[in-house]
Amino acid sequence: MRLFIAVELPEPWKAVLDRAARALAAGSRRGTFSRRENFHLTLAFLGELPGPEPALQVLEGVRVSSFPLKSGPPGRFPSRNGDLWWVGVEPSPGLLTAREALAGALDRVGLWMDPKPFRPHLTLGRQVRIREDFDAAAWAAGLPALTCRVDRLTLLRSQRLQGQLTYTPLYRRRLRGI
Ligand code: ATP
Ligand code: MG
Repeated sequence: MRLFIAVELPEPWKAVLDRAARALAAGSRRGTFSRRENFHLTLAFLGELPGPEPALQVLEGVRVSSFPLKSGPPGRFPSRNGDLWWVGVEPSPGLLTAREALAGALDRVGLWMDPKPFRPHLTLGRQVRIREDFDAAAWAAGLPALTCRVDRLTLLRSQRLQGQLTYTPLYRRRLRGI
């Protein structure tokens, strides 16, 4: 099964991201845009594994404190078959510490699958071809800054159910307050 560890986002974040994604979709010739319930911040992509147990144990045992999260400006990862558009997340010390702790703990049991540098982002749409007249600056200026406190991490399963990309929470780990 396809697994990843992520921060689930509070409703006010999802509402803002949903509006941003719909506006982006309206300004695009094509693309696959995230569904509201799917918005999340991936900390560790684990890929295909036979089962959740080792990842679940890592998540249960890892030492991570709760930390504040703040959104940043939007951006995109260019790609030949259409760009991935996202809203950024500030690489704050709390977030980076959590990610490092998680990566270290996963690495110790051979589960670290993600050699790329960490670019924290919230995906709005993939394979996006934007219209020439889309006013990206006005769109970006309309995005409010978002803040919240992260007090749990979630092990999620990613699968297609009836053709629809679906993330199912398998285990939620509460983080210690500081
Ligand atoms: P789809 O691949 O169907 O377009 P998706 O990318 O959201 O949708 P998954 O590929 O299952 O679904 O990925 C789950 C999460 O892990 C997403 O946040 C995705 O960005 C991230 N992810 C996927 N592959 C990688 C990878 N190779 N490296 C880092 N993160 C990844
Ligand atoms: Mg993917």
